[in-house]
Amino acid sequence: MSLRLRLTILYTALLGGIILVTGIVVYSVVNVVLSNQIDDQLSRTVYDITSVLRVNSAGELDDANLPSLSLIENTYIQIWGRDGRLLSSSDNISKYTRPIDPSNLQVTQPIFDDSVVSKIHLRVISVPLEVAKRQVGLLQVGVSLSLLDSVQQVLLGVLGISTLFAMGLAALIGWLVLGQALAPLETVTQVAIQITRADDLSRRIPLSGSPRDEVGQLIHAFNQTLERLEQLFTSQRRFIADVSHELRTPLTVIKANVALMNRLGEADKESLVSIEDEVDRLTRMVGDLLLLAQAESGKIPLDMRPVELDTVLLEVFQQMRVLAADRLQVKLVDIDQAVVIGDRDRLKQVFLNLGGNAIKYTPPGGMIQLGLTKVGTQVRVLVTDSGAGIPAQDIPYIFERFYRGEKSRTRSRDGGGYGLGLSIAYWIVRNHGGRIEVDSKVGHGTTFCVWLPMNHDGAAQG
Ligand code: ADP
Repeated sequence: MSLRLRLTILYTALLGGIILVTGIVVYSVVNVVLSNQIDDQLSRTVYDITSVLRVNSAGELDDANLPSLSLIENTYIQIWGRDGRLLSSSDNISKYTRPIDPSNLQVTQPIFDDSVVSKIHLRVISVPLEVAKRQVGLLQVGVSLSLLDSVQQVLLGVLGISTLFAMGLAALIGWLVLGQALAPLETVTQVAIQITRADDLSRRIPLSGSPRDEVGQLIHAFNQTLERLEQLFTSQRRFIADVSHELRTPLTVIKANVALMNRLGEADKESLVSIEDEVDRLTRMVGDLLLLAQAESGKIPLDMRPVELDTVLLEVFQQMRVLAADRLQVKLVDIDQAVVIGDRDRLKQVFLNLGGNAIKYTPPGGMIQLGLTKVGTQVRVLVTDSGAGIPAQDIPYIFERFYRGEKSRTRSRDGGGYGLGLSIAYWIVRNHGGRIEVDSKVGHGTTFCVWLPMNHDGAAQG
């Protein structure tokens, strides 16, 4: 059964139930109020009659003393003697000689009851007539209940018809409104099917109603999921393409050198050096990829212990000076003493990657500065160069795997980079509870800023 039908039935049944309960309450209240009024009227009539009733000298009721009983219209009155003889009755039942309520002839106190006389539904009060605690007769007063019966019938009819009408109307409106409200879900289903069939994750579900209602939120969430999936698929595809590309280049070089040696029929020293370089490069790349995969999934094995960061930076500084040789000036500025909780080798790798990039992307004669300062509970390490800078449109992507700036791509492979250095640095820093910021101006230089928490809590993250 469809959700639309289920909700319509539920809604209609609920409404029907509410109207039914309300109807029963209204019916009962009307019934009680009218019945009470009739009983009051009967009691008043009994009082009127008994207050003028007299007995004869023998203490018995006799015909001569009885009052006229035709005072009230639509009221049926009978006075019965102690011996069971009908002494008097109202004119409207003068020809009726049987009791109007035969079941209550022997009452010792006033009793109300329903009775049927000549197909007329009556409400009858039977009252014992007593003189000095001695029963001298019985008075029965009845009124027709035809008005009450017809009121009840009309009420039942009205309630029944209005319940059916309200339920029918509710079902119709519910069906239409639900159809309209659930229509976007149908679209969601259709689009989801089309996406699966066409394998096209670029499609989005159009939002027709309010973005804030439940369906709007569902569509928004679904579109977000699609967007995330599309991003993941695209980056997955690009990653595979990048890896294949990066692997192919050294393999081609190795193959060419092997082919050359084959042709020569002997081992060529130059070719062997080249093959060794390429194998080194491949080994480095596979190692970096493995590290990146571990870091991204938060499963990087980190040997966390207190690390004197200033000592690490000094070592990096020494290595950079060797790498830069006479080509560039490498300076150490603001070196505070700072201890962080972290993996010494990995943190050194971060600064070597940043320093290596600074050297790679700074033309001869340029300057590179390293600095370490404590800011509040954090340590800030700055790596500043006066190199080419990074174009603003590249900055959001430089921490992505295999991302290389346009110039870096066209550079010769002597730098040895393949676009993993910054991703690795980013993930290592994140696994230490820190972050990397970059500030760069094309033609002026670049500053990478690494923030690391000094306290153990922050460093334990990741
Ligand atoms: P690569 O192996 O290409 O250096 P990275 O992940 O280390 O890979 O860097 C990604 C890209 O960021 C580089 O290709 C380069 O375009 C840019 N980049 C990184 N550091 C610098 C820098 N100090 N100056 C200019 N560009 C940089």
